[in-house]
Amino acid sequence: MSMEFWNTLTKKKETFKPITKNQAGIYTCGPTVYDRAHIGNLRSYVFSDTLRRTLEYAGFKVKQIVNITDIGHLTSDADSGDDKMVKGLKREGLPLSLAGLKQLADKYEKLFKEDLEKLNIETADAFPRATEYLPDEIALVEELEKKGFAYGLPDGIYFNTGKLDGYGKLGGLTPAGEGRARVESGEKKNPRDFVLWKLSQDEHLGFESKWGRGFPGWHIECSAMSRKLLGQPFDIHTGGIDHIPVHHNNEIAQSEAAYGTPLANYWLHNEFLTLSDSKMAKSDGNIITLGALEEKGFSPLAYRYFLLLSHYRTQTSFSWEALKAAETAYRRIKEAIADITESGGEISEIYKKEFKEAIENDLNTPEALAVVWKLIKDEKLPPKDIRTTILDFDRILGLKLDLNEFAIVEISEEVKKLIEQREKAREEKNWEEADRLRREIEKNGYFVEDSTRGPVLKMLK
Ligand code: AMP
Ligand code: ZN
Repeated sequence: MSMEFWNTLTKKKETFKPITKNQAGIYTCGPTVYDRAHIGNLRSYVFSDTLRRTLEYAGFKVKQIVNITDIGHLTSDADSGDDKMVKGLKREGLPLSLAGLKQLADKYEKLFKEDLEKLNIETADAFPRATEYLPDEIALVEELEKKGFAYGLPDGIYFNTGKLDGYGKLGGLTPAGEGRARVESGEKKNPRDFVLWKLSQDEHLGFESKWGRGFPGWHIECSAMSRKLLGQPFDIHTGGIDHIPVHHNNEIAQSEAAYGTPLANYWLHNEFLTLSDSKMAKSDGNIITLGALEEKGFSPLAYRYFLLLSHYRTQTSFSWEALKAAETAYRRIKEAIADITESGGEISEIYKKEFKEAIENDLNTPEALAVVWKLIKDEKLPPKDIRTTILDFDRILGLKLDLNEFAIVEISEEVKKLIEQREKAREEKNWEEADRLRREIEKNGYFVEDSTRGPVLKMLK
């Protein structure tokens, strides 16, 4: 079966045709490392990880790049406001210098990678930092200058969108000119022109160039690093939907204007995770981190399960109740697998076909999870086949289903005694006493399930 993805560029679902047979290059817009990632940002990476895993499952050799923006991302998409990294330096009381920038980037890149690991997101092949690719970024601006697409203003070099036929291919453009024509010190030629090289306001921040001390524009960074590491065109570019109108339209504009070929063939965008009807954004403080979930006792992978319950192109509203429900379901799958003690087993080809059809249909994770549940409830299939098949699907789901963190490792002597007493009461058909003992066991944080194999103890959460 062929694999299909919704392509924002063509606005339709298309069969995925790689540039090189059995290989796929993915560029995922990564974080600006001035603050912690929130669970909305992390949705973006669980989505691109699911994409990567789906391709790998189908036999593709994947090369994935997740960039780290460590300079040049201004607070407003309209090329105004502070650089987000400078904002971070000020907040943390770090020196406004390149060394300070590095310290800030190191701190938040590390925390970002820890979040990825907790969510079982496979490590990308590279996490390039914008400041490590300055020669490529500068070369791209020079190329645009040579071809007549760039012009100077007192605060930097700008891209002339009026010169490019078909600017804004991805769509999503805000009404022309809305608050975007003016820059701090000059007038843009067209409202949607954007900065390629921003001159530094501070003598300690920035890098030398023929235009003066400054730093690359945020869009230039992604255009230059993706071309350098994946080639141009490459297969798939991903990011959140907020990147469509400005960041990605601008990446396409400058890369195509400079080099005359498309930047990427497929553009995939995840919808937003919202919090009580408003979007979650680092800049307005309306955020929840993965750490906050853990503090409330949730497993990060229960959050991954929660995300998989929605299609990546549907807006999802986060609530603690919904997360709790997702964790209960997640835990049930793990327990069902842990209860199957026989080893061996074969992958059920019928279920595998159904699962693949769901996931290869534009990553339909809710349907893929429905297949998992159908499989768990199948009484005709040998349990060991159920286990083996689900664990095979887990190569895509990434839920670590073979590891039951809810399982009980050590039980106190007191609880052991209560279980024995309860079993004795049950043998004597003293149901009242057995119930009383069950409640005692629950007070200790466990519950007993009576199976054909005898009492099974589980942890209460
Ligand atoms: P940033 O660090 O702000 O550049 O964002 C990193 C990634 O998270 C980008 O792909 C954004 O499009 C995405 N993103 C930001 N906020 C959300 C959200 N609330 N829900 C889903 N994705 C988001
Ligand atoms: Zn980007």
